Amino acid sequence: MLLTPDDVPYDNALVGKPLEEMGYVWYFPRTSTEINVGLGFQMNKEPVPLVDRLREDVSGRPEFDGAELAEINGEADKLGAALGLRRPLDSMVAPGYVTVGCNAGTTHPVSGKGIRGAAVTGYSAGKYGAKAVHGDEDGFISEADLWDHNYFVYAEHGLGTRIASKDPYNIAASEAGMANVRAAVALLPEAEITDVVSSEEDSFGVRNVANLASGVVKNAWSLFRDDRFDELDTSKREVLETLADFIATRRYADQLEHQYANYPDDRDEFFRWRDERDALDAQLNDRLGVSGAETKY
Ligand SMILES: Cc1cc2nc3c(=O)[nH]c(=O)nc-3n(C[C@H](O)[C@H](O)[C@H](O)COP(=O)(O)OP(=O)(O)OC[C@H]3O[C@@H](n4cnc5c(N)ncnc54)[C@H](O)[C@@H]3O)c2cc1C
Repeated sequence: MLLTPDDVPYDNALVGKPLEEMGYVWYFPRTSTEINVGLGFQMNKEPVPLVDRLREDVSGRPEFDGAELAEINGEADKLGAALGLRRPLDSMVAPGYVTVGCNAGTTHPVSGKGIRGAAVTGYSAGKYGAKAVHGDEDGFISEADLWDHNYFVYAEHGLGTRIASKDPYNIAASEAGMANVRAAVALLPEAEITDVVSSEEDSFGVRNVANLASGVVKNAWSLFRDDRFDELDTSKREVLETLADFIATRRYADQLEHQYANYPDDRDEFFRWRDERDALDAQLNDRLGVSGAETKY
C-alpha cells in the first residue's frame, strides 16, 4: 500500500498492466493518495522475482515520486498469498467435513476474485452442515448427509457452475501466451471480455458467433484505421488462431456450464456425472493440443 504526496490521475479506475508469465501488475486506488499496488503471475510458469518487478514498474512512474509505504500495526502494509486459479472441487464434502472458499477452489479462475465464492460457500456450509448434524440419527455424518452443500453451490445457487465454466479460458490463455491474449483482449467485444471475467448470473457475452465475429472485425478495423494494429505485438496469423481457439473454448465453456448446472442431487449419480465432465475436458484438451502432464486436471 503506497501513500502518494499528490492525487493520482486515476483514482476512479483500476489499472492493470501485463506482466510476463500470464501475470499482471495492478494499481487499485483506495483513495486518490492511497494506492494498493501489486502484482501476480501464474505459478505453473517460471517464477517471476516479484519485488524486483514491482520496484522496476513503480520507480518509473511520476505519481509515485516521494511515495511512502503505508504501515499497519507498526509494520509495512504488505501482503502476499498464493491462490488456486482452478475450478471448484468436484465434491466439497467428505465424512464429517465440508470445505469452502479458497480451499474449495471457488476463486474465479481468470480474475482471482474469491470473496464472493467464500461468502456463498460459507453460507451453504453453515446451513447444510447444521442440517446434517440436526438430522443425524446414527452418530455418523456421511458424504451423502452433506451432499446438499455441493448441490447448493453448483445447482441451486449456481456460483460454482459459473466459476467452473470460466476455467477453460484460463487453460486456453495459458496455451496462447501473453502476446496473443493481449491481442485477443484488444479485438474481442467488451461484452465478451466482461463475460469471461464475471461470475454474475446475468452476464453473458455476445450471443452468437456471427455477432462475435462482427465485433472483432469492428475492433480490428478501428486498430487499422488508427494505425495501431502493429501494437498487438504478434503476427496476424497467430491472432487469428487465438481467436479461433477462443471461439472453440467458448463452445466448451457453454457445454461445461450445462454439465455443472446438472450437478447430481444425489451422491450415487456423482461418478456418472464426473465421467461425462471428464469427456468434455478431453475434447477441450484435444482441441487446444494439451496432452499428458501438460493437462490441468
Ligand atoms: C493479493 C490478493 C488480492 C486479492 N484481491 C481480491 C479482490 O480484489 N477481490 C476478491 O474477490 N478476491 C481477492 N482475492 C482473493 C480473496 O482474498 C480470497 O479468495 C478470499 O479471501 C478467500 O477466502 P477464504 O475464507 O476461503 O480464505 P482466507 O481469506 O484465506 O481465510 C482463511 C483463514 O484461515 C486461517 N487459517 C489457515 N490455517 C489455519 C489453521 N490451521 N487454524 C486456524 N486458522 C487457519 C488463515 O489465517 C485465514 O485467516 C485476493 C487475494 C490476494 C492474495
